[in-house]
Amino acid sequence: MTAELHLGLERRIGKRSAAVIEKHLGITTVGGLLNYFPRRYLTRGELTPISEVPLDEEITLIARVVTTSTRAMRARRGTLTDVIITDDSAQDSGAPARLPGAGIPGTLKVSFFNGHRAKAELLPGRRAMFSGKVTRFGRALSLTNPDFQLLDEDPDTPATDPEKLAGMPIPVYPATAKLTSWSIQKVISTLLDTADLDDLDDPLPAEVSAREKFLPAAEAYRLIHVPEVPADWQRARDRFRYQEALVLQSALARRRAQLAAEEATARRPVADGLLNAFDRQLPFTLTAGQSAVGKTLAEELSQDSPMNRLLQGEVGSGKTIVALRAMLQVVDAGGQAALLAPTEVLAAQHFESIRRTLGPLSRDGLLGGLGPDAVQVTLLTGSMPAAARKQAMLDAASGTAGIVIGTHALLGDTVSFYDLGLIVVDEQHRFGVEQRDALRAKASKPPHLLVMTATPIPRTVAMTVFGDLETSILDELPAGRAPIATHVVGLAENPGWAGRIWSRSREEIDAGHQVYVVCPKIGEDDDGDFSPGEAEPSAADLEGEGPARELASVTAVVEHLQDEPALAGVPLAPLHGRQDPVLKSATMASFTANETKLLVSTTVIEVGVDVHNATLMVILDADRFGISQLHQLRGRVGRGGLPGTCLLVTTLETGHPSRRRLDAVAATTDGFVLSQEDLKLRREGDILGASQSGGRSALKLLRVLEHEAVIAKARQDAQRIVAADPGLVDHSALAVAIEEYLNPEKEAFLERG
Ligand code: ADP
Ligand code: MG
Repeated sequence: MTAELHLGLERRIGKRSAAVIEKHLGITTVGGLLNYFPRRYLTRGELTPISEVPLDEEITLIARVVTTSTRAMRARRGTLTDVIITDDSAQDSGAPARLPGAGIPGTLKVSFFNGHRAKAELLPGRRAMFSGKVTRFGRALSLTNPDFQLLDEDPDTPATDPEKLAGMPIPVYPATAKLTSWSIQKVISTLLDTADLDDLDDPLPAEVSAREKFLPAAEAYRLIHVPEVPADWQRARDRFRYQEALVLQSALARRRAQLAAEEATARRPVADGLLNAFDRQLPFTLTAGQSAVGKTLAEELSQDSPMNRLLQGEVGSGKTIVALRAMLQVVDAGGQAALLAPTEVLAAQHFESIRRTLGPLSRDGLLGGLGPDAVQVTLLTGSMPAAARKQAMLDAASGTAGIVIGTHALLGDTVSFYDLGLIVVDEQHRFGVEQRDALRAKASKPPHLLVMTATPIPRTVAMTVFGDLETSILDELPAGRAPIATHVVGLAENPGWAGRIWSRSREEIDAGHQVYVVCPKIGEDDDGDFSPGEAEPSAADLEGEGPARELASVTAVVEHLQDEPALAGVPLAPLHGRQDPVLKSATMASFTANETKLLVSTTVIEVGVDVHNATLMVILDADRFGISQLHQLRGRVGRGGLPGTCLLVTTLETGHPSRRRLDAVAATTDGFVLSQEDLKLRREGDILGASQSGGRSALKLLRVLEHEAVIAKARQDAQRIVAADPGLVDHSALAVAIEEYLNPEKEAFLERG
């Protein structure tokens, strides 16, 4: 163990400073503070472009004072000092030489109440570093009562020649309103002088550091906090970024190794089983991808170590058949399979369609015992009537049910299986590592696991978020799949199109087809349907937009459509998550049977729902949905060889940032391109949310989308290290770092205790 890094801060920087750091940053150890890295660096001799400063967050910037004036306040006692600061950009642009003031680009008004020090120190021409929140009043930017520090006669700056000084980077730390970046910097400089960094244990193996020519840990800590030239912090940051990637990937490699070392029951294919019978009755031939993935799964299920596999494939690529074939192999071998869906509607749909697909090969509970020629398929959801639910649980526990389909209710403590051999998780983005583990715990021996996702995941995200799984991809759609045309319908510029949407719906219905209408809300005053753990940020999250607009709701739209002349006589029905489950199933059944022609719903139909006759998808207030949600939604149409159309309806003006998302969705049906686009809009924390990453600490220097090469290389190193030294006994510093990554709270507790 690296004792120095775990030492209490007060031992190195004194009680008072340590108390301040703990209060404002929550950091208590030497290692904690050394790892509090600057967010970025300013250059001492360069002014910060004011136009690039973000509004309403704690920022630090360097600027030159233009004017300073002080006056008495009118309404209360005291003075107001106004300082106009500039980034000098106005001169460069050759703008007319008028006195810069508030509202002129490249300038900022800084106001101080009773700012005696400001009045004395912020004299015209001086350069200073300011720290505070920039806000906007009309066109003018302003900064009120910031902390500041003069740069020209900074007594703490070591005497160096002026040229070198001008190029010196100034670290900017994530600051708080009470603790400025430079206070943090001072404390860390003190710490670097007092801490004993000579014998730091390095989580990076020596051969990796040698190969990559990384700085030693102690020097890297010094240079990331007190760089003399930009290359200093760049080299230090490269090292720590790699370290972060290696720690993360080693944690995942260790988890993969642990999972692989577990003993599972091999479920080998049998010659004359259900799977063979099923393949003979399939009305189509499998695509090349389905066959290849099927072969991989068949082989892995035949091993006595558990399969842990992620299957990615576009909406409609035919993942369900692949999963069903794997389930049948397991049933043939005497085991049970569970299929876990994110919503009740989807679970019910899977239940119906799997029984339909199996045809005579499936039985339900009423038809008696399990024969060798058929499998009992059982639905088990939280909202089933008590008696049916009890029967389903009994069938799962007794082994009568060969395939059990359900929602996360399957995770409940009361549900048990006779011999669970395979778990299939559909639409992974709703399930995290903990839930995967809860399911694995359902079997006496670890079951095989197949996770399916329709949201294509960029390679590095897969490596990080789903790093404990091996990956397969279905990259072609079954033949005969019709294209989907997507159009953005902007009601702001074309109010007349509102009526056109419904006459267009009527045309589809008259041609014998069906229509989905999706709304962001259920009723007038609610937030729509959100499943637990939903990862998708709303437009409001992304843009901080207020709830000013009246959004389309299922209730209001149904009311409106009942009086819509174009739809006179059309059977339509509402569907949303707050309805009684019996009503929900009845509505879905009626839509599936082509009795209901138009379904007005929330995103409950987002995933998996499979009605081939539906050809038109109308998404109202489409700007309220995320990119991958829209892509999933439109995948509901164009499934039965009939061309599909998706209308993304919005009341936002052209050029509104949220409309770019709609344009992106309309521009391509390539889910991979869209998911890249989508991830760019998300915060890193959403990608690596607690439940997804398997660890709780946020990444500091690593950006999953940006640092693909780093992550890939670290993954290789991690794989090699863990394979050679599974217990990490010869890599104790790495083992400690992994522990800290996985259990930061526990670590903090140990430090205090
Ligand atoms: P996913 O779950 O990947 O979105 P599904 O498994 O629901 O896709 O398949 C979509 C539709 O395509 C289903 O109706 C299914 O029966 C059909 N399908 C699957 N595989 C093929 C194939 N090889 N050829 C033709 N149709 C297929
Ligand atoms: Mg599916």
